[in-house]
Parts: sequence; C-alpha cells; structure tokens
Amino acid sequence: MYVVFFFSPRINLFLFGFFVSKFLGNVLLANYSFFVILLMQKDVGFSAFRTQPSFPFSTHISKQRVCKKIVSVVAPQQSERKPSTTGAVKTGMTMTEKILARTSEKPHLSPGENVWVNVNVLMTHDVCGPGAIGIFKKEFGQNAKVWDREKVVIIPDHYIFTTDERANRNVDILRDFCTEQNIKYFYDIKDLGNFKANPDYKGVCHVALAQEGHCRPGEVLLGTDSHTCTAGAFGQFATGIGNTDAGFVLGAGKLLLKVPPTLRFVMDGEMPDYLLAKDLILQIIGEISVAGATYKAMEFVGSTIESLTMEERMTLCNMVIEAGGKNGVVPADTTTFNYLQDKTSVPYEPVYSDGQARFLSEYRFDISKLEPLVAKPHSPDNRALARECKDVKIDRVYIGSCTGGKTEDFMAAAKVFLASGKKVKVPTFLVPATQKVWMDVYSLPVPGSGGKTCSQIFEEAGCDTPASPSCGACLGGPRDTYARMNEPKASYFDFSRIT
Ligand code: SF4
Repeated sequence: MYVVFFFSPRINLFLFGFFVSKFLGNVLLANYSFFVILLMQKDVGFSAFRTQPSFPFSTHISKQRVCKKIVSVVAPQQSERKPSTTGAVKTGMTMTEKILARTSEKPHLSPGENVWVNVNVLMTHDVCGPGAIGIFKKEFGQNAKVWDREKVVIIPDHYIFTTDERANRNVDILRDFCTEQNIKYFYDIKDLGNFKANPDYKGVCHVALAQEGHCRPGEVLLGTDSHTCTAGAFGQFATGIGNTDAGFVLGAGKLLLKVPPTLRFVMDGEMPDYLLAKDLILQIIGEISVAGATYKAMEFVGSTIESLTMEERMTLCNMVIEAGGKNGVVPADTTTFNYLQDKTSVPYEPVYSDGQARFLSEYRFDISKLEPLVAKPHSPDNRALARECKDVKIDRVYIGSCTGGKTEDFMAAAKVFLASGKKVKVPTFLVPATQKVWMDVYSLPVPGSGGKTCSQIFEEAGCDTPASPSCGACLGGPRDTYARMNEPKASYFDFSRIT
C-alpha cells in the first residue's frame, strides 16, 4: 500500500491516496489515485465549516443536499453552443454521439451501435508501446508502415529515471520504432541523469498531450492508458484502449467502437475557493459508485464547469475511468480556445449536444454546498467528508501524477503551506507531471506570497526537492523509483471514525 497526500488551498487539507496498482502490474487497471483528505482545522484560521454547525456531518445526508438526480432532461445551456456540424439532425445527439458520428462518417448514431471510427490521435507510452508495436508488426508485417506518422504520439513517462534494464529497454524499443517509422511526435529521453538536458522529453503523457496541443475539440484520441479520458476536457472523445487495439490502430488508423449512452452531470453554483475539481469528481463517484458509469459517456456542464480552468477540467475528466466511464467530455468554450491558441495550428471543429439529445440520466449538483471530500481506502467511491478524517495519522505525502501533478495542483499545495506556516512532519515527495510543470514550480510566484515560488515555499516547509517529471511512484515502478515505498508500512487509518 502506498500512502500519498495532497494539499488543498486555504484550509489545511491533506489529500493522500493509496496506490495499490503497482502490485497489479497492469496499467489499464491502474487507477491508483485514491485520494483521501485529512482536515486539520486547528492549523489554519479557516472557519467556514465551524460557522455552519447545521451542515450535516453524515456523508449520506450531505450528498442528498448537494446532488439531485433528474429523470426528465432539459438541454444544458452552454454559452459557446453552436449548431450540429454533422448535418441536419432529426433526432438529437449528445456530444459523444456527434463526435463518433463525424469520425465514422455516419449522419446519425445511437447508443449501442458499433461503428468503425477514424482515429485522429493514437498515444502510447513506454509501458504499453512495446507491446502494441509487437502486435502491429506481427499482424501487419515486419516492414509495415503506420497509417499516419503525424497522428501517432509516443511519450515515454512511466518508468524513466531508473537503472532497471528492462525499463530502459522499453524506451529503446520506442526510439527504434520512431526512427524506423519517422514518427513526428516522439518525446524522447536519452540523458537520465539530467532531464533538462532532454528538450524533447515532456513527462506524464496525459498532461503532456494537452501542453503539446494534441487535445483538440471534436476529435477522437485513443491511448494505451486508462487515464486517456483526461483529454475529454477539451471536448473530444478520448478513451483508453488495450495493446491489441492499439496495434490495430497503428496499422489501420481506425477502430470498431460501440457508441456509449451518456450520463449528464450539471454542476451549478459558485465554487468555494477551498474546493478543487478533485472534490467535484469524488462527489460524483461517491454518488454513482465506481461502476456507475460503466461503458457510458460522462458529460459535464453547468456554470461551475464553465468557470473551471483547463487544468481543473482535466482533473475532472481524468477520473471518469474511476467511475467505469468510457469517456468524459466538457463542451469546448472560450477557456478551451484560449488554452489552445498557442499550442496547435491544426484546425478543429467543436461539437455540442443537441437540445433534443437523449441522456440516460441527469444528475444536478449545487457546488456551493459541497465540502472537501476524501476517497478512503480502498476505492474511489468510499467517500467521506475531509473533516471526518481529521484524526487520521499519515505516513508520507506524495504530490504528483496525471491527476494531481499539474501546475495548479502545486500552486494549491503551496498556498496551504503558506497559510499554515508550518513544517511537514512526515516525508513529503513532490513529482511535477511534466517539464513545464517543473519549470512553473520553480518560476511562478505564488499569489499572496510576496513573490515566492512554489519550490521556495516547499523548501521552507521541509518537503523533498521536486523530482524529475514522470509518473514517478504512481504506478510503482522498479525498486529505485523515486518515492516508491519498498518496505511495508503500517496504516494508521481508523475506519471506526468514518463510518
Ligand atoms: S501518473 Fe502515470 S501511472 Fe499514474 S495514473 Fe497517470 S499515467 Fe498512470
């Protein structure tokens, strides 16, 4: 069991997760960021909860107030809504249905239909890439060429900073393949001693895909990693696939997909500044369970969603897979277009759900009533209020991963350290997701700090020096992986306090 923490702003919150997936050894099953929040109210002068004694202490009561499931559906009003781009629509379609209709060249699709979808981007990494390449060569021939060298994106990120020969060999296989196929987007790393000496190297694939402009509205992005759904934040259809499917896509550029029905989540209300998108998705998963969206699209709309930054939308969509979802989508808007402005020159065309679109279910949330949440071991839907866990002792802290290792996540953590003025009491590991995030941690001033950077604040608080960007210990990795726990550690989690 791996114990991980993350700080949330303004109030002294620790989020810690239990990364069990390293023992499973399967990246597609590795949805390991089971974050837990520990609220230590006495450390910071934040009194919102204490001044609301009527707020329910029971999670069950709390969620009833926050969420309401609706049976009859009214179309969401998105500020950037545009007409269908798939021609005249007799029966309304959801965003997901429209993207799959466009990319399968069908005028109309309904949930349950199987269609051959033309893929806009295929991503793979060092764990699954060699397997997918092997299948591609076996099925299409040793001398076969990939269907489009500009639509394959290969990102070494998982087991990078290690002396493990097999892990290093995986990156070598990717490099040889990219050279052979003249792959345009290969984010290589050769000098493991200094990641900054590798200008092409990025880091965690899902964050790098966005930062490098590979996530575009209205497109289909497939990747050999369950958290590929992160890219749905850009209003595209993005989902994880297995190595066999990826091997096929490498050769054919298309894949047979079943059209998922869509669940719609309407999140309205002003989001308190002590919440992050992680709280929103934990609320949803706690509501519908880890199987509640199995092979379904999860569409996120509402005024709260519209107010989220792209990084926060990515956090929301990242954890769709933790609810079993096929994909998550946020309608593209000005925030999306502004983010993409300097990242891609590829033309894209967003789509939006029709007014008459049919949703399987709709859930409505008043986010202004939501409190910081925790996913207790051993499941993301084992939800509790953070303050209910305030007496839980923790062993170590890990801030990182594609869910919690973005620039805004480190900013939020730094603000908590700043507000508390205290030093950490347990080992605290920091793993920026990408080179860009690492640079931000060392260069961007934290608001209200008098010009201090995150790295300065972390150092003053006694944290470990921010590590080289990668998946780090999220998937476990070889024994010499930074922050990996190689010996058993006692868990102090006292469940009797939370039931
Ligand atoms: S950080 Fe890497 S290993 Fe962890 S969930 Fe994201 S892609 Fe997977």
